[in-house]
Amino acid sequence: MNFGLYSRGGSIIATSGGWHSIAIQVLLQAQKELLDYRGLGISVLEMSHRSAHFIKIANTAENDLRELLKIPENYKVIFLQGGGTGQFSAVPLNLIGLKEERSADYVVTGAWSANAAKEAEKYGKVNIVHPKLDAYRTIPNPSNWNLNPNASYIFYCANETVHGVEFPFIPDIKGTVLVCDMSSSFLSKPVDVSKFGLIFAGAQKNIGCAGVTVVIIREDLLGYALKECPVIFDYKVQGSCSSLYNTPAIYSIYIMGLVLQWIKNSGGAETMGQNCAVKSKLIYDVIDGSNGFYVSLAASTCRSRMNIPIRIGSADGDNVLETEFVDKAAENNMISLKGHRSVGGIRISLYNAVTVEETQKLADFMVNFMKERCA
Ligand SMILES: *Cc1c(COP(=O)(O)O)cnc(C)c1O
Repeated sequence: MNFGLYSRGGSIIATSGGWHSIAIQVLLQAQKELLDYRGLGISVLEMSHRSAHFIKIANTAENDLRELLKIPENYKVIFLQGGGTGQFSAVPLNLIGLKEERSADYVVTGAWSANAAKEAEKYGKVNIVHPKLDAYRTIPNPSNWNLNPNASYIFYCANETVHGVEFPFIPDIKGTVLVCDMSSSFLSKPVDVSKFGLIFAGAQKNIGCAGVTVVIIREDLLGYALKECPVIFDYKVQGSCSSLYNTPAIYSIYIMGLVLQWIKNSGGAETMGQNCAVKSKLIYDVIDGSNGFYVSLAASTCRSRMNIPIRIGSADGDNVLETEFVDKAAENNMISLKGHRSVGGIRISLYNAVTVEETQKLADFMVNFMKERCA
């Protein structure tokens, strides 16, 4: 689980799911509008997806997203259900048939891209473009990638949420459709959408709550779905009816719309990027200055601005110290700092809604904890 730091009423408390993806201003607005959405006398929770009011909510969210990421005209924006994991299936179901060989290239730099590659194997041939990594701590050098010229697309994950490995660049692959899972770094900085064939992101990390996944796809890639592709995942079908083939996740789309407005009012993707740089530097400076007390596992060239897995004492960690750290942090109202169950240790997640002040508080806590243990 990730950590959530929250300033509510002066004290810091945790998010229920630990994602901390929603700023307090957004939650307060949702609370205010829950019973009576803008004088309509009904809640968004009970709104018809065919109503003019919901259509306006969805259109505004799409337009705000287009503005925030400067999405070119020839891209469709689709809101789907099924999460990031649903897209691990939807991407090959829609795109692996682009070329006759039904083959796709995958870059596997952590748990999520590994899951994506495994799912794609159900629908075609998967070529992992580099030798298997024994630990997910680096990004294999692109000049050594073994690319298949007949691949329908190449897939990578911009930020590996569990292992804390983030691409500091966009791979430059000529002639192949670039597909990216941006679930945990979406809108954490500006991005040149025109470099991609497809980008997807589950909303619950950086732009809202679980239930809706954003897909941004270049229009010429529509219409290649395999016949066994479920209709709700068919990008062409959903793209041609404003994601309303069936009932979409109305409330999740509404919350995402509020978050997008909050990002706009906060200065947009540029400001999110600056904040991310400041916040992650606060934590990495403590780690780098700790003389090996805190160990960051990812290589310094590709360590994540969003998710920072840490071990204490050594790269293998010290369970006693790590448990003490998590408990002591919780006493100070900083919770969900436990690392992902598959890797252990500690993980700090700095999604957009985490403030610089909250991050500073955690950095100070880390310094004090170290001083006490090393005294
Ligand atoms: C969380 C996450 C997923 C999976 O999201 P679900 O909505 O739980 O399916 C996929 N990719 C990345 C990078 C993630 O962080």
